[in-house]
Amino acid sequence: MKRQSYRCSFCGRGKEEALILVAGIDGHICDTCVEQAQQIIEEELNAGQKEEEFHLPLTIVPRDIKNHLDRYVIGQNEAKKFLSVAVYNHYKRLRQKPEEDDIEIEKSNILLVGRTGTGKTLLAKTIAKFLQVPFAIVDATVFTEAGYVGEDVESILSRLLQVCDYNVSAAERGIIYVDEIDKIARKSDNPSITRDVSGEGVQQALLKMFEGTDVNVPPQGGRKHPEQKLVKINTENILFICGGAFDGIEKHIARRLNTQVIGFNKEEIERIDRENLLQYVSQQDTKSFGLIPELIGRLPVLTYLEPLNKKTLRRILTEPHNALVKQYQKLLKLENINLTFSEDALDFIVEKAYDFNLGARGLRSICEAIMTDAMFELPSQKGINEYRVTREYAEQKISKSKMSKLKVAS
Ligand code: ADP
Repeated sequence: MKRQSYRCSFCGRGKEEALILVAGIDGHICDTCVEQAQQIIEEELNAGQKEEEFHLPLTIVPRDIKNHLDRYVIGQNEAKKFLSVAVYNHYKRLRQKPEEDDIEIEKSNILLVGRTGTGKTLLAKTIAKFLQVPFAIVDATVFTEAGYVGEDVESILSRLLQVCDYNVSAAERGIIYVDEIDKIARKSDNPSITRDVSGEGVQQALLKMFEGTDVNVPPQGGRKHPEQKLVKINTENILFICGGAFDGIEKHIARRLNTQVIGFNKEEIERIDRENLLQYVSQQDTKSFGLIPELIGRLPVLTYLEPLNKKTLRRILTEPHNALVKQYQKLLKLENINLTFSEDALDFIVEKAYDFNLGARGLRSICEAIMTDAMFELPSQKGINEYRVTREYAEQKISKSKMSKLKVAS
């Protein structure tokens, strides 16, 4: 009887050539063909996914982005408008087909200048969530030039990879918020810069990444070492949003305005709002502050955030979609307790936050100090279904907390 020889029905490899031959109803498949088929499936699925994900920005316009931001971020209209347009153009750029013409839309990476706690991170985060793209926050101060202790700039991309479960094609369309970009300013007359080595070298290292290039990324972050397997990520379509407080930049703005207004009439000079010079910030000022021109060139969209006044802080406390007050109310609602704040209790929280000068960041710690006792006690008390925070109650909690010992920032 003739011995039957098994072969892969796809590539024809004989049983002896293949590692494994899997039998089907009407044929066989070898391990190599299984692997190849798997690869084809992945590529096809990814291609489909790509189109789907690109589809979302097709239907939205800058006004939609701004409307969405309005639900979560109070005020900061100028920044919202700039961001909405920049993000819209960024995704329009992704849809551009290379063969259409030779006009290439450049990347619209963004630089946000504004004091701490005024909503820079929140804006970036809210946009990423709206667009459903991966989002990572990194802090520029942890980066070093090669050869110094700290993290390599490539680890910026490791964070992004981690948030999207190592899906490279998703990461390549993500948004990265680089916080405290002002802290890597070139050593200048800026007193906050103490590290000599880092600044300019880190800025240089960021250049290529911001512009768009292939970067070999250590998947776990940290520093690269020789045995590590690296993942290649192309940053061409990653949107970088950088933010910083740029403490003291007003001095540079004022100096520039003073030289610029020579020749202007008195009325024009008087129209300058000296209380909020940040609104006039220009690329030239960020250069005087210590960003290198090449990096400024890679962050073509520059906008500012307003300092938060009491009125804005008050709105932040109650109005956004996930306002602090709403969050505490929701937490207690889960205990069947209806939580309310008196108007003057809210005023008190705002006054305290304003004094601490930490932007809206102060609101959270003040609310925690006021609410912790109640959140601790109420779940174990039966029969309470109303809880009201009055100004007296809030004052008492704050005076007993460690916050009362905090120095008010100037
Ligand atoms: P930063 O400007 O330092 O990046 P964040 O965006 O991290 O500030 O804001 C700190 C906290 O204050 C966040 O919890 C954020 O929700 C809140 N916050 C700051 N600014 C605003 C704003 N304009 N509207 C609503 N919430 C804000």
